[in-house]
Amino acid sequence: MKELVRVKARLDSAHQMWLLTLGLLLAVMLLGGCAAGGPNFSGKKALEHVRQQLEFGPRPAGSEANRRTSDYIAKILKSYGWAVEFQEFTQGGVPIRNVIATKGEGPLVVLGTHFDTRPVADLDPVDRSQPILGANDGASGTAVLLELARVLSAKATDQAQVMLLFLDAEDRGNLNEWDFSVGAEYAAARLPKAPSMVIIIDMVGDAEQNIYYEWNSSLALQERIWHVADTLGYVNYFIPQYKYAITDDHIPFIRQGYQSALIIDFDYTYWHTTYDTLDKISAGSLQRVGATLQTLLEGEPFAPNPAAQ
Ligand SMILES: [Zn+2]
Repeated sequence: MKELVRVKARLDSAHQMWLLTLGLLLAVMLLGGCAAGGPNFSGKKALEHVRQQLEFGPRPAGSEANRRTSDYIAKILKSYGWAVEFQEFTQGGVPIRNVIATKGEGPLVVLGTHFDTRPVADLDPVDRSQPILGANDGASGTAVLLELARVLSAKATDQAQVMLLFLDAEDRGNLNEWDFSVGAEYAAARLPKAPSMVIIIDMVGDAEQNIYYEWNSSLALQERIWHVADTLGYVNYFIPQYKYAITDDHIPFIRQGYQSALIIDFDYTYWHTTYDTLDKISAGSLQRVGATLQTLLEGEPFAPNPAAQ
């Protein structure tokens, strides 16, 4: 009899443990459910896209590695259910290929980045004959838009036609009489309709992240983006102050009269050097930019400017 009681007691405590475990499990699931309300952009996954691009080697316009990169981009986008097309042309005998992905219906929202890399490290302190690897300048923006393509939900694509532009031939400017933003120039002149906004990202992976307002960009659009970043707790990384005026892929869209902004971290010592390598960038930096864009697009991208209220 005593023995039986003890067995039952043991069973009871096992039962209690089981209930406790179940309760904890439910609590974790509930908390997880709450967390799922925020952006689920993964900086780690984005960093993997950087790593993959670097494995192709330097990726200047017209190179085999550049071609493999645009193939990779198109394959990933298709796997996430985006409609994908190549936009191909030649410039000075060099084949150029932009990748365009679209999803959703509504006002057009364009997010763009360049995926090509500079053919020479013309600011290198030692060797200016080599091409750059472009972990930050080329691969980081591309990686963020690829991961965004994975996570962007119907909240975004039910209220806008989202277009992701992966632009070629941004970074041959001032070399052999080439301009910057050759791919963007071509794409900007051929959008299917006037976009409500154009956001270009470039050099967003620096582990020491400082992203300032840029002088050529729309202030209203920057205020909107930096406000979203602020709500996510990123005020130390998205600093709402002007610092640089940059020539980048947003310029052709501005010339077309479109509201456009550039997100760039130009405080980057390794710019256009052979030191622009994977060890300089971080998943956390990619995360902040991606989560900001996801939150903007899944929130109220067309609401009145928060800074004007
Ligand atoms: Zn560059």
